[in-house]
Amino acid sequence: MAKLQEPKYVSWNGKLIGWKDATLQIDCEGVKRGLNVFEGIKGYWHDDGNFGIIQLEKHFKRFEQSAKMLYIPFDWSYEKFRDCVFTLMRELLIPEKDMWMRTTLFAVEGHWGVDTKADMVMTAFNHPKELPSPINLGISTWQRSIDASLPYRIKAGTNYQVGRLARIEGRQKNCQEMILLNRWGRVAEATGSCLLMVRNNQIITPPAYEGALESITVDLVESIAKSMGMDFIRRPIDRTELMIADELAICGTLAELVPIKSIEGMEIDPQGPLLGKLRKQFFDIVRGRLEHPSLELEFVPLTTKV
Ligand code: PMP
Repeated sequence: MAKLQEPKYVSWNGKLIGWKDATLQIDCEGVKRGLNVFEGIKGYWHDDGNFGIIQLEKHFKRFEQSAKMLYIPFDWSYEKFRDCVFTLMRELLIPEKDMWMRTTLFAVEGHWGVDTKADMVMTAFNHPKELPSPINLGISTWQRSIDASLPYRIKAGTNYQVGRLARIEGRQKNCQEMILLNRWGRVAEATGSCLLMVRNNQIITPPAYEGALESITVDLVESIAKSMGMDFIRRPIDRTELMIADELAICGTLAELVPIKSIEGMEIDPQGPLLGKLRKQFFDIVRGRLEHPSLELEFVPLTTKV
């Protein structure tokens, strides 16, 4: 596996600092209990040399909501958040790569929810422009927790422990991504993305209450699919439906739309007609080649073009 990137700068409470200086005190709740909430944000180069971040305000709102649900105080305005994203991206963008950014609120003070204070940390990584190849998908024996235990609606670092276990399990059978079922044995989501399934010419995804993060990408993809005249519905998905699906893909900010070539070792056509067409349209839209009313773009002000 490729070594993880160590970018030159990190944004810490709005100031740029060196990667090696971006550390947390070992006794804070952010470290001791993994208390943090985060967002993954994506931006793409457009053909005209502009760099557009997609759905940024939607990510900001979900970030605020995650913090609220975990009683982590956060009072930044959207404008402040956006400007800090711009500043870091401007430093780290290179023309050959798109960019994926993580914005994280780490609890640095407080104890058991009393006097919690958090630091706002942003890290950004160069991301290949090439479309990822189809992957093998497995079904994990680990389950997505329910709302009353570890709420999947909160994008918190701790929610990803079960995803880590599922990925370890998946690696043993050559699966790059794994489905987490919910407690009722139906599809919740993948470890870091949602699932799209095609059956009988309908694109189907489980509703968030089945155990999925309220995905910003799925909302966008739904809107694109509908504007292309495709049927897109949200309903529970049984495990066995995955085995007889016509097409499958995973969908999320980082995953974008990755086709699936096998599910639990059973082959499935990764070039299926519906998701293939949708994927092409998605990339034309996020890369600014086609306009779409559901796409929100924030352009990074590039003083000197990268
Ligand atoms: N589920 C999980 C567990 C995720 O980590 C992600 C990625 N953020 C998603 C779903 C997809 O959400 P979004 O489209 O908002 O990135």
